[in-house]
Amino acid sequence: MSGLILNGVTKQFGPFTAVDQAQLSVPEGRFVCLLGPSGCGKTTLLRMIAGLEQPTGGSIVLDGTDITEVPTHKRNLGMVFQSLALFPHLTVGENIAYPLRIRGIGREAQVKRVEELLAMIHLPGYADRPVTKLSGGQRQRVAIARALAISPKLFLLDEPLSALDAKLREAMQVELRKLQQQLGITTIVVTHDQREAMTMADTVVVMNGGKIRQAASPIEIYRKPADRFVADFIGSTNLLPVTIESGRTLVLGQAVEGISADQAACSLSVRPEDIHLSAPGEGRLSGRVTFIRDLGGTIETFIDVRGTEVIAVSTPRERPVVSVGQEVGLVIDPQTAVVLAA
Ligand code: ATP
Repeated sequence: MSGLILNGVTKQFGPFTAVDQAQLSVPEGRFVCLLGPSGCGKTTLLRMIAGLEQPTGGSIVLDGTDITEVPTHKRNLGMVFQSLALFPHLTVGENIAYPLRIRGIGREAQVKRVEELLAMIHLPGYADRPVTKLSGGQRQRVAIARALAISPKLFLLDEPLSALDAKLREAMQVELRKLQQQLGITTIVVTHDQREAMTMADTVVVMNGGKIRQAASPIEIYRKPADRFVADFIGSTNLLPVTIESGRTLVLGQAVEGISADQAACSLSVRPEDIHLSAPGEGRLSGRVTFIRDLGGTIETFIDVRGTEVIAVSTPRERPVVSVGQEVGLVIDPQTAVVLAA
């Protein structure tokens, strides 16, 4: 297969396992985000793919060749780090041409390639500017252009947008994704921002405690989380305890139409937007409204169901009029709810 394969890639720092048996297959041209909380091992995994860190177990295969022992400069990679690491004493053009220069590419070819790259990152005519005179977003784009100058096989980025303010960051996410699609280059980005991952990635790899918990498309991660960690980490969800009594599945002690589980100790993950409020009735949870947060575009209704707080989200148009203190029924579409092992 063309692309990147991780076979049980592991990294121990002494007795501590930073990355535990990572298994992943990335077809050529795919955009992958490594996502997870601080310390989950995503940077260590990226650094192993880059050859900046040697795995203590497993292997890394790129386009059918085992590159586990291949030094970084022979892996044909483009890399961008949070710090960007642009050379402040060089111009934009000199920065972008740097990897070409150290590979002995001729002056004329360098100039031509720099022009191409500047057009690609929407900074034509910027070659002679000092990088110190650029805005944060422009520097970001220069760092990306420099990483892509050699047309690498693999493009690796570690928190590349985290220094930017929220608005610019969102714009750059879209720009980076478009650029990647245009070039068709296999790309792996480390981020702790789930919105960023959902915006850019074909495949989101959710990590926790050194382990890959799930690798799937953004929508699958959201709709079919593999476990409680993923369900809770991506977006917000209601995790409702499930018990089985005399063969009947009970959610928060009540039977819910269409929901059945085959093991006692588990929970039901229901997204707030998948709970619809109605009158109390058979086969649906019921509870008392404790708080209503009206955010204009969406309304969050907090409901106490037998001592557990459940949150339902709706738009003003679809929401029935309920008020604090009212007894309501919670209709859950079984298609949208996921039973998760404890
Ligand atoms: P963050 O988002 O905070 O950067 P991360 O998910 O990228 O987190 P890593 O930097 O990969 O996490 O670190 C994973 C774990 O490995 C952390 O507990 C970290 O302390 C540990 N670790 C990383 N590098 C080393 C090292 N050189 N020596 C010892 N422990 C390390």
